[in-house]
Amino acid sequence: MYLHVPFCTSRCDYCAFATWTDRHHLHDTYVDAVLAELAAAAARGALRPATSVFFGGGTPSLLGGRRLARLLDAVDRVEGAEVTVECNPETTTAELLDALVEAGVTRLSLGVQSMVPHVLRGLGRHHRPDQVRRAVDRLGAAGIERYSVDLIYGGFGEQDADWVATLDAVLALDPAPTHLSAYALTVEPGTPLWRDPARHPDDDVQARRYELADDLLAAAGLDWYEVSNWARPGHACRHNRTYWQQGDYLGVGCAAHSHRSGRRWWNVRHLDRYLEAVARGGTAVAGEERLGPDEAALEALQLALRTRDGVPDHAFPPDRLARLEDGGPLGPLVERHGRRLVLTRRGRLLCNVVAGDLLPRTLTISAG
Ligand code: SF4
Repeated sequence: MYLHVPFCTSRCDYCAFATWTDRHHLHDTYVDAVLAELAAAAARGALRPATSVFFGGGTPSLLGGRRLARLLDAVDRVEGAEVTVECNPETTTAELLDALVEAGVTRLSLGVQSMVPHVLRGLGRHHRPDQVRRAVDRLGAAGIERYSVDLIYGGFGEQDADWVATLDAVLALDPAPTHLSAYALTVEPGTPLWRDPARHPDDDVQARRYELADDLLAAAGLDWYEVSNWARPGHACRHNRTYWQQGDYLGVGCAAHSHRSGRRWWNVRHLDRYLEAVARGGTAVAGEERLGPDEAALEALQLALRTRDGVPDHAFPPDRLARLEDGGPLGPLVERHGRRLVLTRRGRLLCNVVAGDLLPRTLTISAG
């Protein structure tokens, strides 16, 4: 289950997520609406015990421990379910963490982005690196052993040395992160970053930063398991794996997406419209689509290709596979792991290009 929390203290320059900075008076109203949406789903028989719960946003930690606990209490979970809350360093207080542990949260995801002040400023982020260290001290004191760090590379003014300094600082945190996500900065239409081409990232610089990250993280015992995700053994994110394996998930809250057995649907994006819709009838579905078997099979291969599990070895036509395995001046883009083909590091940098070579006739097979 995914629960969307659409509140932030300020909007980062690159952000196009469904989040609001001027609706803090609606925190309780919003929690009540999400609870009403969950109750309506239960009444329809649409709820199953969750194997993972993910509070994303926005900035879920802004809701505070009491409201997050109210939401989590309403979610039926299997024994040992993974429960993750996204937190920003500046809102991760000891009180919040104690309340989250008490409520059953098992994992945090910290929005760090960079450990270098001028890079944070270039991204339009307002926290400081010392707030990250304090947040990690607090989560260690609260007994939270599993946590992930989110980073962004390619921000304006960032040099390779800044990126290495960020990775070194994150790897030196105590307790050390068990998981790390690193994303290339992307330019989303309509954002302040989009309106300022002088700050747009360079593809080749980002590729170099990716390779630097992969080297340092692997040396520290965090291995890649999806193009943008690294984890210590046994610490891959169960929730994200559900997405990548085309599992079923229910999303609640504004802008949340859901999937069950090939049907995908999504809630209205705007916070105010969401509140109105739930008040009217308990649901806020804005649209849906149903994937045909061919589309679903192709999407399964595209998702699997991004992971360390890779795709079956017949997923590419022989002539294209020969080209991918050779790779020309770039070197091999895929390599064989038994009967599977897995992206090499160069292949991860060109993942979308490699995915374009997936074989049309594999539309009739599954990614397994
Ligand atoms: S904290 Fe996250 S959701 Fe909020 S504005 Fe920044 S990037 Fe967007």
